[in-house]
Amino acid sequence: MYRRIRKIADRIIAESFPGLQGKRIIMLVFRFRFYALSLWIPPGLRFIVVSTRTRNLSDEAITGLIAHELCHQERYCEMGIRNYLKFLVGYVFSNKTRRNEEHETDRRTIEKGYARELYELTLVSRKDKKHKKIIDNYLSPEEIKNYALQTGRWNHPG
Ligand SMILES: [Zn+2]
Repeated sequence: MYRRIRKIADRIIAESFPGLQGKRIIMLVFRFRFYALSLWIPPGLRFIVVSTRTRNLSDEAITGLIAHELCHQERYCEMGIRNYLKFLVGYVFSNKTRRNEEHETDRRTIEKGYARELYELTLVSRKDKKHKKIIDNYLSPEEIKNYALQTGRWNHPG
């Protein structure tokens, strides 16, 4: 599973994340409640942790998931250390900060060209009972489609 995730991440970074090229991002796979999370331990440790719960997701949904996590990483880089540390405190303690971060990250994922993949992922994650409490932090499938249409990024056939 690690190799599958790594391969997809490397492809997406090469295609869509010039700012992350040359930065080491450590991918970890183990079992936990949510699908994935991103962490930066400044200055140089960047982690994307992916849950084994995602093993049955399609390549398309996994691509949406990894693209979303890479958007977090890109946002962390832009924040810089000081703002990132402030943000982390907010993320832990404030619902509003979490929701804002996830919405901004979903929008960026769409702007990067992964609207269809994020849409596929969201159809799956919305059916997952373990995600019930956090689902409102993310864009809904309709919001993803609307934002992609608005920004000219709903180009896939079908
Ligand atoms: Zn996220």
